[in-house]
Amino acid sequence: MLIDTHAHLDFPELSKDLGQVIERAKKAGVEKIISVGIDETSSLSAQRISKEFPGIVYATIGLHPHDAKSLDNDLMDRFKSYLRQGGFIGIGETGLDFAKAYSSKLDQEEAFRFQLSLSKEFALPVVIHTREAGPDTLRILKSEDAKGATGVIHCFSGDYELLKAFLDLGFYISFSGIITFPRAQALRDAVKKCPLDRFFIETDSPFLAPVPKRGKTNEPSYVKYIAKEVARLKGIDFEEVCRWSSENARALFKPLKD
Ligand SMILES: [Zn+2]
Ligand SMILES: [Zn+2]
Repeated sequence: MLIDTHAHLDFPELSKDLGQVIERAKKAGVEKIISVGIDETSSLSAQRISKEFPGIVYATIGLHPHDAKSLDNDLMDRFKSYLRQGGFIGIGETGLDFAKAYSSKLDQEEAFRFQLSLSKEFALPVVIHTREAGPDTLRILKSEDAKGATGVIHCFSGDYELLKAFLDLGFYISFSGIITFPRAQALRDAVKKCPLDRFFIETDSPFLAPVPKRGKTNEPSYVKYIAKEVARLKGIDFEEVCRWSSENARALFKPLKD
């Protein structure tokens, strides 16, 4: 059994053929998919999709660092009211992205801290996106006393030193198709050393299709290629990777147990 812990099913590349995307995922052994929100509209779409595919699709609510500048008091209030109504299993994706910097560093930090506070207030795990922002992400998590929060560093692409720092704060690490890309050697070394009880796998579809599907539209069924690469790197069976990653995901996102 596989869980794709991070996909964007509301994106048009996937939503236009969602029934078939889900069918192909099931055939590939993917039993559950977390559809991650990147803004208000996409979070509500993810929730709608989770209702269309109960027991298969689960939704999170969040504001991506790219859109951090759109956060104002009204949006904060709306996020809280959606969370009071329920139907979400996590907060995010949130975090910091200094590679693209579509929002200022200050706005990104404010939106990140707001979503960390939601994670604590509503006792939901947080999905963290961090790109070229490792030290600042760690600084914020430490200052927010992240040991009280739980969550995952999604689409991890750093080295073992950074991975270890997140593990020490109690976070899970999620690996995407980037681990199959030719230049990702430091990342592959980190995969080898990551403890078995602390990782999951994800597609981040429709982006980042893994080798051998690179360049195509990514979709949840391709999570098997990421599992295969983790198995190869760790020198363990494919089934063992599936078992650990699913078990770990269910330990963090409790509703996945149902
Ligand atoms: Zn992301
Ligand atoms: Zn994402």
